[in-house]
Amino acid sequence: MNKRVFAYLVVALLITSLASASFATPANDKTALDIHFNSIVVDSHNDTMMKAINSTTWLPETDILENTNFHIDIPKLQAGGLNVPFFAAYTSGYYGNTPRSISRTLALINALHWTEENNSDVFKITTSLKEIEKAVHEGKIAAVPTIEGAYSLDEDNAIELLHQYYDLGIRAVGFTWNSSNDLGEGANRQYGDPERTPSSGGLTKLGEEVAKEMNRLGMVIDVSHMAESTFWDVINVSKAPIIASHSGMHSLRNHQRNLTDQQLKALAKNGGVVGVVFYPEFLTYERPNYIKDYVDHIDYAVNLIGIDHVGIGSDFDGGPLPDDLKDSSELYKVTEELVRRGYKKQDIEKLLGKNTLRVLKEVEKVAQNHPNKVGQGLTIKPAYKMGEIISTTTPKLTAEIIREKGSKIDAGGFRIIVDGISYDPEYDEETSTLSLQLTEPLKERFHVVTFEATNNAGKIKRETRIFYIDD
Ligand SMILES: [Zn+2]
Repeated sequence: MNKRVFAYLVVALLITSLASASFATPANDKTALDIHFNSIVVDSHNDTMMKAINSTTWLPETDILENTNFHIDIPKLQAGGLNVPFFAAYTSGYYGNTPRSISRTLALINALHWTEENNSDVFKITTSLKEIEKAVHEGKIAAVPTIEGAYSLDEDNAIELLHQYYDLGIRAVGFTWNSSNDLGEGANRQYGDPERTPSSGGLTKLGEEVAKEMNRLGMVIDVSHMAESTFWDVINVSKAPIIASHSGMHSLRNHQRNLTDQQLKALAKNGGVVGVVFYPEFLTYERPNYIKDYVDHIDYAVNLIGIDHVGIGSDFDGGPLPDDLKDSSELYKVTEELVRRGYKKQDIEKLLGKNTLRVLKEVEKVAQNHPNKVGQGLTIKPAYKMGEIISTTTPKLTAEIIREKGSKIDAGGFRIIVDGISYDPEYDEETSTLSLQLTEPLKERFHVVTFEATNNAGKIKRETRIFYIDD
């Protein structure tokens, strides 16, 4: 090789290595944006609906179609390329007041349905992988409803109310927020009463039942706010993969909300995914922190448990963000940092969404034996639309039952379920009306009613509505 060729080679090598060096180049940014905006981007936790409701009445108030001062609204989701946000119905619980915890949870689910109804051309509540893919393909935001803090579930109502939440589209449930409840021990290891009574570890018997029922229904168990003891019980009980919807890595930042290496390994073995959270307090000891600190947590998890078990779990509108991330409109900056660190396109696609979607798919697969196959040949038409406002605390809840020609119903198979409590309703054959006159006044504002009928093949049909009492 003569000197001249050698010099050319050196220059060529220099240019190549500069282009892939650790600082951003224009080519690099373009690659990152290409990857980001051509991926299905999934975020397993936000608290935006909490901000969309009126703080006194809990009725929906702010339509996120417009620009807001929230971390998430529709224009920001579009600008940030966030296709599949999980919208949590968050409550920290009202200790000893289940009706209020039910009301709060329903208020936030109702706000999501209201958001969908106002913006159906661009925003769709999606409850299966198939629906998510269809909505994204049509250029819509695919919203996945979830619950953070199942303080509304107790001994009397848990299984029926869980089914009603499923009807309303809920596909992931975090059993606890930080305080413990009837299902298990939360991160704080104490109940939410004024005395902050210490709790004993793990899932309760009821929590175990709820976990099994969620497997059967096809709902994802979210371990993010659980105490470690509860996490281990869930790992033992769940037949389907789980998520930690918004957590960090304990080895980088010692915090009760972060997962230890042992937990991360168990989560990977279970087939689950940790959605890495932006919340600054969970990322570093020093503040402020930045997206690079966030991606350090991704790096750490990927190195420990592999590329298939890590995702995004923002906590948008649930707390502060790293200093260089304004809101969801800048989510592509994470992809820019991943590209800078040498992650390949296929791996970035997994982190951005494919991993979390895989969990949804596997949870659906485990649930295929679900016994409540939908009954054919009959239609149930409740007298209420979703979120109906009614003016009495003792309403008569009614629905019309429409039978297709030739189809039969099992007259003994009617039920009306209110806030997780099942009642035997009246059925008027002449008008085909199913009804229940409540006699005990309902407490609190938001409630949920399900009308259920069974056809002669034993298949069940249900219609579920949230209603609001303004008396
Ligand atoms: Zn949280």
